[in-house]
Amino acid sequence: MVVTRFAPSPTGYLHIGGLRTSLYSYLWARRNKGVFRLRIEDTDLERNNIDALGAIMEAFEWVGLDYDGTVEYQSKRMDVYKKYIDQLLEEGKAYKCYMSKEELDVLRETQMANKQTPRYDGTWRPEEGKVLPPIPEGIEPVVRIKAPKEGVITFIDGVRSIMNFNCSEVDDFVIARSNGVPTYNFVVAIDDALMGMTDVIRGDDHLSNTPKQIVIYEAFGWTPPKFYHIPMINNPSGKKLSKRDGAMDVMQYKREGFLPEALLNFLVRLGWSNKDQEIFSMEEMLELFDPTNINKSASAYNQEKLLWLNSHYIKNVSNERLAKELEFFDCFIHGHDKKEMLLDLTKERAQTLVELKDAINVILDTPTEYEEKGVNKFVKDETIYKILENYVKLLEENVDKLHLSIDYEAITKPFIEEFELKFPQLFQPIRLALTGTTQAPSVYDIMAVLGVKVTCDRIKTACEKKFNKEG
Ligand code: GLU
Repeated sequence: MVVTRFAPSPTGYLHIGGLRTSLYSYLWARRNKGVFRLRIEDTDLERNNIDALGAIMEAFEWVGLDYDGTVEYQSKRMDVYKKYIDQLLEEGKAYKCYMSKEELDVLRETQMANKQTPRYDGTWRPEEGKVLPPIPEGIEPVVRIKAPKEGVITFIDGVRSIMNFNCSEVDDFVIARSNGVPTYNFVVAIDDALMGMTDVIRGDDHLSNTPKQIVIYEAFGWTPPKFYHIPMINNPSGKKLSKRDGAMDVMQYKREGFLPEALLNFLVRLGWSNKDQEIFSMEEMLELFDPTNINKSASAYNQEKLLWLNSHYIKNVSNERLAKELEFFDCFIHGHDKKEMLLDLTKERAQTLVELKDAINVILDTPTEYEEKGVNKFVKDETIYKILENYVKLLEENVDKLHLSIDYEAITKPFIEEFELKFPQLFQPIRLALTGTTQAPSVYDIMAVLGVKVTCDRIKTACEKKFNKEG
C-alpha cells in the first residue's frame, strides 16, 4: 500500500510550493488507494506560529485535500523520539558529545581556514581502543549519531534517478540537542518510518537532508521510503519566486478570486505533465498522476496561465456554485430572479471571481455617475433625450413581451430604422444610463437582466440628470 504525507513546518502560511508538494503526495496516495497523512513538524518551538497552523488547515480545507487519520504533531511525540535516541545510545550507534560551543567554533574556523568543509571531527566518537577525553564539568552533552566514515550513501530518487553522496559529506551529526530536544532530520526519519511512509515527495531543498535521514534508517535497520525531490518553482525569469511573483499565502489566491480547482490544475502542471494536456479535472489528475513523470528541471510560475485556467473553470462550474463562491466577495445573487442570465452574461469575460463580482455589480448597481468621456462623445446634442424618451415609451408599451434579450432586440431594430440611427447612437447612451460606463456587455442582455421597469427607471433618471453633464 502506498503511504504518503505532507509535513509542513508551521513557521509561516502555506505557500503554493507547499500546496504543490501536498497535492502530489495526495494524488499519489489516492490514485493507489493508499493513505495520505498530515504531519505538523513543530519541534522548533521558537519558530512555530499558531496562526500559521490555522492558515495551513484553512488552506487544506479550501482546496479540499482530505487527509487520513488524525493530524500528527511532532511536538506531542517527544517521548517517542527520546525512546529511539536512548535505543541508539544503548546499542552504541550514537554517543554523547561534550564539545563546547567555543570548541566547535574553533574547529569550524580552522577547517574553513584550511579550505575544508566544516564537519565534526569525531573527538567524542567511541572507537575500539580509543581513549575518550575526560568528561568536562558543566556541559550538557548533545547526542551524535555514528555516521559511516567511508563509502557512499546511495538512493534512487524517483525524479532524478540514482543519487550518490560521499560519506565524507555526512558527519556524525547531532540527533539530540543538549536540552534533549531531537533534531529535525531525526524526527522526520523516525516519523516517516513509524508512520509507514512508502513514498516521500518533497521539495528538492530537502535533498541534502536525505543522506542524513538514510543514516538514521540504517542505524535502526529500517528500509528507507522511495524519495521524490521536486524541483523548485521559479519566477518567469528563472529566479527564486518572490511574493510579487505569486509566492504568497494560498488563501490569498482565494481572496484574489481564484477557484481552488484552477489553482490545483495550475499546480499539477507546474512540474508535471501528461503529453500536452493542460486542463485536468481532479478525476483526471487522480487517474494520471505519477511522480516518476515529475519534471527534472525547475518550473516557471506563469500568472497568465493561472488566469486562463481560472477563467476556464469560472465558465465551466455551475452557476449555483458561482453564486455560492461570490458570497465570499459580499456579492449575493442567490435570490435574483435572473441569476442564470446574469451569470451566463458576466462569466464569459471574467478571469477571477473578483472580476465576475465587478461585472455583476456594474449591471446590478444603479449608477450614480456617468463616465464623462462617454457622455461627451455619445450624449452630444439634445435630440438624444427625445430618442431615449421614445425608446422608454416603446419598452413600456411592450412590457409583457420583453423577457429575453432577443425580445428586446426584436423591438429595437425597427426603432433604430425608424429614427434612422446607427447602433452606437442608441446603445452607448443606454449603456451609460444603465451602468454608467460604455464598456458593459450587450445592451439587450443587460436590459433582459434588469427588466423593463428598472431599465426605464435608469434611463429616465439619466435623462433627468442630463447624465450629470452640467455638474
Ligand atoms: N517540514 C518540512 C518543510 O516544511 C518538510 C519535511 C519533509 O517533507 O521531509 O519544509
